[in-house]
Amino acid sequence: MALTATRVVVDAPQYSGVGVALDYLSEQPLAPGTFVRVPLGRREVAGIVWPGEPDAQPGVELRPVTAALLAMPALSARWIELVEFAARYYQRSIGELALAVVPAELHRLDDARLAKRIARASKVRVEDHAPDTGDAISPPLNDAQAAADAHLAADAQAGRVATTLLHGVTGSGKTEVYLREVERVLAAGGQALVLVPEINLTPQLESRFAARFAGRRIVALHSGLTPAQRLRHWLAAHLGLADIVLGTRLAVFAPLPRLAAIVVDEEHDASYKQQEGARYSARDLAVWRGRNEGVPVLLGSATPSLETWQQAELGRYARLALPGRIGAGALPRVRLFDMNTLPKVKGATSALSPPLLDAIETRRARGEQSLVLLNRRGYAPVLHCTACGWKSACPHCSAWRVFHKLDRTLRCHHCGVTQHVPRACPDCGNADITALGRGTERLEEQLAAALPGARIARIDADTTRLKGALEAQLGAVHAGDVDVLVGTQMIAKGHDFRRITLVAAVNPDGALFSSDFRAPERLFSLLLQAAGRAGRDAQHAAASEMWVQTWHPQHALYAALRAHDYAAFAASQLREREMAGLPPYAHLALLRAEARALDVARAFLQAASDAAGAPEGVAIYPPVPMSLQRVADVERAQMLVESRSRPALQRFLAAWASQLHALRAAHRGLIRWAVDVDPLTI
Ligand code: ADP
Ligand code: ZN
Ligand code: ZN
Repeated sequence: MALTATRVVVDAPQYSGVGVALDYLSEQPLAPGTFVRVPLGRREVAGIVWPGEPDAQPGVELRPVTAALLAMPALSARWIELVEFAARYYQRSIGELALAVVPAELHRLDDARLAKRIARASKVRVEDHAPDTGDAISPPLNDAQAAADAHLAADAQAGRVATTLLHGVTGSGKTEVYLREVERVLAAGGQALVLVPEINLTPQLESRFAARFAGRRIVALHSGLTPAQRLRHWLAAHLGLADIVLGTRLAVFAPLPRLAAIVVDEEHDASYKQQEGARYSARDLAVWRGRNEGVPVLLGSATPSLETWQQAELGRYARLALPGRIGAGALPRVRLFDMNTLPKVKGATSALSPPLLDAIETRRARGEQSLVLLNRRGYAPVLHCTACGWKSACPHCSAWRVFHKLDRTLRCHHCGVTQHVPRACPDCGNADITALGRGTERLEEQLAAALPGARIARIDADTTRLKGALEAQLGAVHAGDVDVLVGTQMIAKGHDFRRITLVAAVNPDGALFSSDFRAPERLFSLLLQAAGRAGRDAQHAAASEMWVQTWHPQHALYAALRAHDYAAFAASQLREREMAGLPPYAHLALLRAEARALDVARAFLQAASDAAGAPEGVAIYPPVPMSLQRVADVERAQMLVESRSRPALQRFLAAWASQLHALRAAHRGLIRWAVDVDPLTI
């Protein structure tokens, strides 16, 4: 029998001797995109047949493919193109990325078991969402929604494929526009992909979609699924059984044979960027995928990323605006409270100014709720000895251990090391150890002291660790069993609270002067999101307020916030970025290195820099320790690479990659290195 040479990608780094793909023999021709099992050294591993000519070196004996999964159709050429682009752009091997973005179960199954799973996935389960009557029928659109919808419908009618920014404050009815777009897609027999930033937000959106599209199959894809669920949902997408796939960033790689539209909700959200392995941006890949597959992409946000906003300003993305809230729901009035006007008092002051406490109390008396935002959990960020100056440093990280009062522990939020609070200073024995600064736990305590009888709830990563805890706490807020909700950014996003009429940001100033150039963008977005939690109910909208306690009330960011003027904020930020040569006017990549000794990490980066020489159009900055230099006893350093031209940066990175792999061997003690293209923080 004639054997066919077949290219296969496996989960191995490029330049590890594997190259882009390996060649095997198979008895029958296998279509690109077919899952196979192949021998690799003494192991047998999963692989995917890849297009292209086998290398066919004369005299090299090829080994046969062990097994192929033929019970399901091969992955499409479009899917292969997406993975190839992402691997190239984000500097990973194709095999590593391809096998990481498919369900792990597929690595293990044989054809017979896969056939059974397919049969199971094909049985449409009656979804257990009781359609909430409110969402089952589409409401008449308001004028702005109608205009946005007409624009998208006209695109569809004319076969225009565009990337469109849907810019609308929270509660302006963006989701309704998504629903209409998806409705059009389904009516024409297509599949829709809807991306959301966080798992927490999927059930809410899923039930809205389920209510609207009763009888349609909707599957979720996110990291909260069991491996079996993930495989079932992925198969439903790949086999064309699911009409709507709703998922977090990984879902951008869902195989969808009839894909006809992509929606990216909260497109500015940092969660779209994967932070390890292939450091891809699902938002950016969604835009690329849309273009490549000829389907429209709808990016929604109240505070678009500056990258997206610039594309819209340049006319490369269409822009649709939903300027007002639905119905009478008004945006809360923003009050800047100048902390400089408070009388100076000695010692620990409360985080809460007396006028703010009064405002919260007034709300409580009226049966309304307040939300108090502080983006730092724990009781206090550091403990301090007043006698000798000892501080609760983490022995393994360049960070303080945070004081958690409830269980009297000192916890490092970076490496997780936890210890009981010492009775006395470990250095001098002094018993007077004080907590410096404050986190949500302390804020909750101060609120309880200042507002006797108030029902206070706290939502942060500490109070929601147990499964179901977050849902229970949110339930209590919705039921009106809470007067004041304290929490971190977890409470600022997405939730449709009905009785909140006051939102207070207690101490947001830190981000104004951060060394991270994206900090102001994140702060503005967080505050506007948080503001959006108030006044969602028309009945209370008029009385809704957001309080910002600040030492810098004149700051331009707060002026824009007060006017709810994203465009003004974006314009001033873009001007600053342009002058400073930062994204989106420049394109960045980071080379990161980790080792037990900082010198090793640095030496690797320096050698990488030397190997690069002076590439055309690309600037390479000197290696520096990361701002959080040590985590869990690992020293971390990085080097910034920058170019005004994305293609020039890409060309350089591609050429550099082989040098980096070669250098790695020469740097013993190097634990890891990675390239982060379009990093979110530098
Ligand atoms: P966003 O996605 O911009 O935050 P939503 O789509 O969630 O806004 O809309 C906010 C609320 O208004 C939801 O409860 C939604 O059901 C409702 N809503 C949206 N559009 C309309 C409309 N045209 N008429 C009445 N209610 C609407
Ligand atoms: Zn001491
Ligand atoms: Zn630590």
